[in-house]
Amino acid sequence: MWSPWPVSVFALVAASSFTPVHVLEFCPDPDSHSHDNTASDSQLSPNTFKSRWNISVSTLMQNLDQFRVSSKKLLEAFPIDVVDGNFARSVKNCIFSKSSPTPLKGPLRLAAASKEVVEGILDVDVAVTQSDDFLHYAGGGRLLPGSEPLAHRYGGHQFGYWAGQLGDGRAHSLGQYTNRKGDVWELQLKGSGKTPYSRSGDGRAVIRSSVREFLCSEAMQSLGVPTSRAASLIVSDEPVTRDRFYNGNVETERGAVVLRLAKSWFRIGSLEILSQSGEIDLLRKLVTFVIDEHFPSIDSDDPDKYLVFYSTVVNETAHLIAQWMSVGFAHGVCNTDNFSLLSITIDYGPFGFMEAYDPDFVPNTSDDEGRYAIGAQADVGQFNLEKLSAALGPVLSLQQQNEAKRILKGFADIYRKRMNQLFQAKLGLLGEQEDDGDLIASLLKMMADTRCDFTMTFRQLSGASAQQLHDGDFAQLWALEDLSSHKLFSDWLSMYQLRLMRQHDSDRDRQQRMKKVNPRYVLRNWMAESAITKAEKNDFSEVALLHHILSFPFVTQETAEEAGYAARPPSWAKRLKVSCSS
Ligand code: AMP
Ligand code: MG
Repeated sequence: MWSPWPVSVFALVAASSFTPVHVLEFCPDPDSHSHDNTASDSQLSPNTFKSRWNISVSTLMQNLDQFRVSSKKLLEAFPIDVVDGNFARSVKNCIFSKSSPTPLKGPLRLAAASKEVVEGILDVDVAVTQSDDFLHYAGGGRLLPGSEPLAHRYGGHQFGYWAGQLGDGRAHSLGQYTNRKGDVWELQLKGSGKTPYSRSGDGRAVIRSSVREFLCSEAMQSLGVPTSRAASLIVSDEPVTRDRFYNGNVETERGAVVLRLAKSWFRIGSLEILSQSGEIDLLRKLVTFVIDEHFPSIDSDDPDKYLVFYSTVVNETAHLIAQWMSVGFAHGVCNTDNFSLLSITIDYGPFGFMEAYDPDFVPNTSDDEGRYAIGAQADVGQFNLEKLSAALGPVLSLQQQNEAKRILKGFADIYRKRMNQLFQAKLGLLGEQEDDGDLIASLLKMMADTRCDFTMTFRQLSGASAQQLHDGDFAQLWALEDLSSHKLFSDWLSMYQLRLMRQHDSDRDRQQRMKKVNPRYVLRNWMAESAITKAEKNDFSEVALLHHILSFPFVTQETAEEAGYAARPPSWAKRLKVSCSS
């Protein structure tokens, strides 16, 4: 495991919503809310959320017949699978197969919709999500105007080994939508039925995993972490059988579909499959396409453009993983097929936000060896980028391949620097001083020893005044109380105060800065689990509540406090398990 600081003992780490009925109830009273609503200028208060997007309603589409997507660009750029039909097979010489969604068996229900995505990205009035039309479109029963649905062929290294062809086994790309800002987004349904890549899978996703993907994509966006987005969550009565913990206990759950969006869904595995099967012309075509469409700063005539592309992905992936670490996010399945070429977080599965600080935290109970432990993510990121350089090998000269190796060697440094910046900001430190690394590392070491809560330790430090730090008075601050049981805590606190005194800013400014980067609310497993249990009984109120609250993770909200989202996790939270089964 890498350490960003030269202290060997320290492990690495170093809205809304479905507005209608539910969410409005949860909007805090503008006059009564928030005792530390100091978050940010950019982070608006939950009370302003209705006017968060400067969109006049008349410019929003009022029905989906006007909404058009297109797969033209993708279809024109690449050869298509010559075989037709949604049956599992080995596919060659293409990037996509034509494949239609299989409608979920009704009745369908809208469990959640993201106003921010539906209005802010898709230009559609969120009220439209209440219509039957929307249920059909977003549930895979009807195709959006212009849609020619596709399933993407990709491969990947899973848990360290080449797994061969994977592909969209339960996702359909509906096409691209160009919004009024000129941004192009690719829409996908996930859980929409079998494709040529389904192997022995049923092409479905169950309610629990779909609730988690919907909530986490939007929560990550609000935390400022690059991510795919989720527009809606539709649940059905279609029975789907799953062996949730791979222990032979097969249960019948229900199918659900998430309408999700990304600028591009291409992954490291998208290139690997072409390289591995010797389809080099197609490999060149796909890399060139990705560069032309998504990396405008790369000159298409540059003879080193593939290398510049690689270097950019290395840089941005290092930044992405550092951002994951700064909010305690463990992806859970960091296979190369789940690593985006655009360095955004994709494919939410058995992820977890770390509670008790532990670099060995493994969110996925099926990951016996802890390959994807939170503190190993930088290592596996590097492993994945090595696989990317191998995939690009056939389009690079020998000299460029050597250069790619050199670039990858720089990953550790980029990552360390970014981690340092992020954790300095988490501690409210301005500028860079020599012993900052030690200050951060010693804090993390104490956090590991006391197993105190990652999110709330930083958040409560953000709210602590200079006087409190001086007095060591952390009554009511449960995470800091836990931390203060460490025998070195008072020494650390003195070091921290000295460091703060050396920078010229006010206590209030420091607190405000820290509150902008240290969230008060993250999607803890127990919070998701509670919402899922209700959603499985068709009560979506808690999904809406979480969606709304997590849209403002840096702002103290009364409803969240009442729900205990910033309190010590309930004891039953420790028993929760999440597996790959979804
Ligand atoms: P994931 O672990 O979700 O990243 O999925 C790994 C691969 O398994 C991808 O190719 C998925 O499309 C495929 N897959 C996962 N679940 C299913 C399913 N229920 N039916 C078909 N394919 C699936
Ligand atoms: Mg995946």
